[in-house]
Amino acid sequence: MARYTDSVCRLCRREGVKLFLKGDRCFKEKCAIDRRAYIPGQHGQSRRPKKPSDYQVQLREKQKIKRMYGMLEKQFRNLYEKAAKRPGITGHNLMAMLETRLDSVVYRLGFAKSRAQARQLVNHGHVKVNGRKVDISSYAVRVGEQITVKDKARENAYVAEAMESVLGRGLPAWLKVEPATFTGHMAQWPERDQIEQEVNEQLVVELYSR
Ligand code: SF4
Repeated sequence: MARYTDSVCRLCRREGVKLFLKGDRCFKEKCAIDRRAYIPGQHGQSRRPKKPSDYQVQLREKQKIKRMYGMLEKQFRNLYEKAAKRPGITGHNLMAMLETRLDSVVYRLGFAKSRAQARQLVNHGHVKVNGRKVDISSYAVRVGEQITVKDKARENAYVAEAMESVLGRGLPAWLKVEPATFTGHMAQWPERDQIEQEVNEQLVVELYSR
């Protein structure tokens, strides 16, 4: 499957906001967006800001959300189509469906420092859902399902450090975790105001509705 292999910090610099793709580094002075707050590329510093069109605003917001969750266009569009078919507000459905992907839940529970790391844990078969190995990062977690990290992976220093740093930042209200056993579950379907992402998903709905 195609995947993005260039520097992920370029994605933040392109969108002009922190997308928190590199774990702890995003909270330190080393963050590239703090040090080089201009668009990447040869002419990044010399580009004059122009008033963006409505289309550009919608496109950039879609790119921002898609990149936050490490998704490619086709996957993201498919998820949007599913969100649009559900009852309720499409944008809210989309955000909740993004948050409840297995890789995102593993990240939010504090088993990984970034979504990319969480995806690797899942893809390498280190995560169990209700006691059974699930190695599909897009797996849609349901309320009540128990998410566990396998014993061997718990010994990994990155996993232990991730738990410490995430617990320091706080856990979303819709998730519960037992740090000692690296086990967590989704206590409820996430409401939009419980999802701490400063994005305007309505712009994605407007873009895809054109
Ligand atoms: Fe983005 Fe994190 Fe890189 Fe900063 S360190 S630019 S927030 S990925």
